[in-house]
Amino acid sequence: MKILAADYLVTMDETRKIIRNGAVLFEGSQIVDISFDRELARSKYPDAEFEYLGSNSVIMPSLINAHVHLEFSKNKTTLHYGNFIDWLSSVIEKKELTSEIDLVSSMQDALRLMKKSGIGALGAVSSFGKDVEVLASSGMRVTLFNEILGTGEERAEEIKSDFLRRFETSKRYASSMLTPAISLHSTYSSSRRLIDFAASFAKENSLKICTHFMESKAERFWLDKNRGEFKVFFKAYFGVERSVIKADDFLSKLSGLKAIFVHCTHATDAELELIRNDGGFVVHCPVSNRLLGGRLLDVETAKNMGIEYITATDGLSSNYTLNLWNEMRNALFGYADLSLKLLPYDLLKSVTINAAKALGINSGKLEVGQNADLIAFCLPGFVEEDEYLPLQIILHTNKVDKLIINGVEING
Ligand SMILES: [Zn+2]
Repeated sequence: MKILAADYLVTMDETRKIIRNGAVLFEGSQIVDISFDRELARSKYPDAEFEYLGSNSVIMPSLINAHVHLEFSKNKTTLHYGNFIDWLSSVIEKKELTSEIDLVSSMQDALRLMKKSGIGALGAVSSFGKDVEVLASSGMRVTLFNEILGTGEERAEEIKSDFLRRFETSKRYASSMLTPAISLHSTYSSSRRLIDFAASFAKENSLKICTHFMESKAERFWLDKNRGEFKVFFKAYFGVERSVIKADDFLSKLSGLKAIFVHCTHATDAELELIRNDGGFVVHCPVSNRLLGGRLLDVETAKNMGIEYITATDGLSSNYTLNLWNEMRNALFGYADLSLKLLPYDLLKSVTINAAKALGINSGKLEVGQNADLIAFCLPGFVEEDEYLPLQIILHTNKVDKLIINGVEING
């Protein structure tokens, strides 16, 4: 058994408990006790290994990046930002982005950075299956969303068999730490046959499913009116004249799956209600949304509707770092009209317990019986009021001193 003690324990549990001078006790892969007094914990478990993490130290659940595309980690300065269609065209045209050259090392660098910043679990969208091996050996808890997409009905069988081949490969790496899942790319990039296939495949195999949903004004126009920038784009690249599906039809095809809808920045209130009523999840990626010329998710409306949103980085094709602290800081400044007493805690929730619920993992809060997935770091000074602790944590943290996943200390 190990006792980790800190000045602040941010439990992220349902009662929002913050414990001063407390300790977390874990044995093997599980949290077995939470103590309100570190000295009492020490005397209660005299044989346990004890470690106090120092002045102004914080222990909290490790972070969860619920939406990332690791295979796009090579992008640094090449893609076009500011408009979704310009960006998408640049992703398609710049083939070197996904070429094999330096791909593995760029993915390893990205994973190393995430671990240093305290990310212990990922929802990774895998487009080509080139990331499976590095993810499986990362020591992180991974939900691997094998992606499926393709607009032409005539190519549906070929696309399905490529997906099934990648899915079978990912199953060979399946373990208590890696769970194969499915990603249906988006509303606009798949034929009806593929949408039906993805939904029934997820259902039959009890898989987690995620999809990009209403990320841009162009997507909204295309699905609602068969107009706008997507019309030009689809004609140029795929010879397609009309959207294959309306948004509500798309949502109804995924109903019953508790799907993860990524972005939703241009979703209507009625669509958000449908997602909520179905037990689905909403992920937003503020940096990506800004860079691709979109807008930020209306998190206050979502929250008032009872949607516990999730914050994630998306891939390096639409971000400059996969550090979730950075993502939270950007959100903090992006939502300039929201309370600095409430928003920071919501953001911490969005990368811990909310993300854990979406991925279906037993992590994201410090509680007896949870996975021992936690991080420790130190703040530069004392924080007097608990209500400002989440804000100070987000302002001052970039990397962590300790990342423990499944009870094992991971060195980035
Ligand atoms: Zn994405």
